[in-house]
Amino acid sequence: MPLLVMKFGGTSVGDLDRIKNAAQKVKREVERGYDVIVIVSAMSGKTNELVGWVEQTSPLFDAREYDAVVSSGENVTAGLMALTLQEMDIPARSWQGWQVPLKTTSAHSAARIESIPRDNLDAKFGEGMRVAVIAGFQGISPEGRITTLGRGGSDTTAVAFAAAFDAERCDIYTDVDGVYTTDPRISDKARKLDRIAFEEMLELASLGAKVLQTRSVELAMRYKVKLRVLSSFEDTDENSGTLVCDEEDIVEQNVVSGVAYQRDEAKMTLISVADRPGIAAAIFGPLAEAGVNVDMIVQNISEDGRTDMTFSCPVNQVARASEALTKAKDAGSINFHELVADTDVAKVSVVGIGMRSHAGVASQMFEALSRENINIRVITTSEIKISVLIDRKYMELAVQALHDTFGLEKA
Ligand code: ADP
Ligand code: ASP
Ligand code: MG
Repeated sequence: MPLLVMKFGGTSVGDLDRIKNAAQKVKREVERGYDVIVIVSAMSGKTNELVGWVEQTSPLFDAREYDAVVSSGENVTAGLMALTLQEMDIPARSWQGWQVPLKTTSAHSAARIESIPRDNLDAKFGEGMRVAVIAGFQGISPEGRITTLGRGGSDTTAVAFAAAFDAERCDIYTDVDGVYTTDPRISDKARKLDRIAFEEMLELASLGAKVLQTRSVELAMRYKVKLRVLSSFEDTDENSGTLVCDEEDIVEQNVVSGVAYQRDEAKMTLISVADRPGIAAAIFGPLAEAGVNVDMIVQNISEDGRTDMTFSCPVNQVARASEALTKAKDAGSINFHELVADTDVAKVSVVGIGMRSHAGVASQMFEALSRENINIRVITTSEIKISVLIDRKYMELAVQALHDTFGLEKA
């Protein structure tokens, strides 16, 4: 039988009525003749609550126990979804990650999927089961411990199942009706895209557009999964939502196709470090070991053999970063006068494959920010994106200004 993967995010399974609503959508596909693999997130707000409990209990927590706690939200919704489907007379069964088993690396809290053996699910489908409900976000490490795939990881669970089971399509049902030119929650001028190229979606996701987890887009691109984002609250059909597809399959293409933001960034500066070969390695090695996700890096021009080194990282990793750098200083491997953390910054980025062949996007971006009197703290660029770090209080303003400047509200 043809097979579909349908993923429902937190808001889409936020209470029992919403689970029923999602189950209706599944039922429709079963009646059309599909076997379905349903991936569920935890109820909205649940994972945040669990993360909060872990952080309150142990600020520099053991990631194995973090995973044991935060993976539990999905167990509840998976069981409830299977029960809801059974009540509708649809043969359904739930699986937690370890039962499948969805095998991952042992990088707790940010594990990567290694393999998904098909045997267990195939056997059940062979016995007449029509829907397998899988708890998203979680797997099992080679050591036999529960792992999680990073925030938003249920998207990746969904795409990985679609690839492993040769699904006809992977439908990501969420609380917006597709991928927009920017987050529709911060700009009412945001425009829904019918299609978006894998590479652009990949950049938007990695730069903060949380509608899809970055890794899910990478997997879809690699395994040629037909990936679609659509609303779980509206009536939908074959043509609803946004299709993530190859660049060649997009007819009309703007130079800039989207604006993304990351609200909770921090900027850390090591003041007056010795400017010598190996200094970057001596600073960023310990940060990597401590699990700090360093993003932008700037080294100032040195004076008298000393320089300032600035980097950005998520705001909730500042404590970890400070600890790692202070330890390195105490051990004598680095030497700095002061460590200054600015926890009130945000990153705003513009993305578009058209930038490859169009000069001038950066200057247009900087002019737009200058017109709004927004000071740029750090800049980074790549082939198809430009990112700036600015004061957090100007973030919304910057997104709106850039959305206007690049004409994204117009078709
Ligand atoms: P789910 O719980 O279904 O996984 P998420 O909250 O993870 O949903 O992702 C959906 C949210 O992503 C939307 O509510 C929206 O606010 C946000 N978002 C950010 N950028 C975009 C964008 N470019 N297009 C659509 N949604 C976006
Ligand atoms: N529940 C997890 C999270 O909130 C995974 C997901 O929803 O995709 O990050
Ligand atoms: Mg999500």
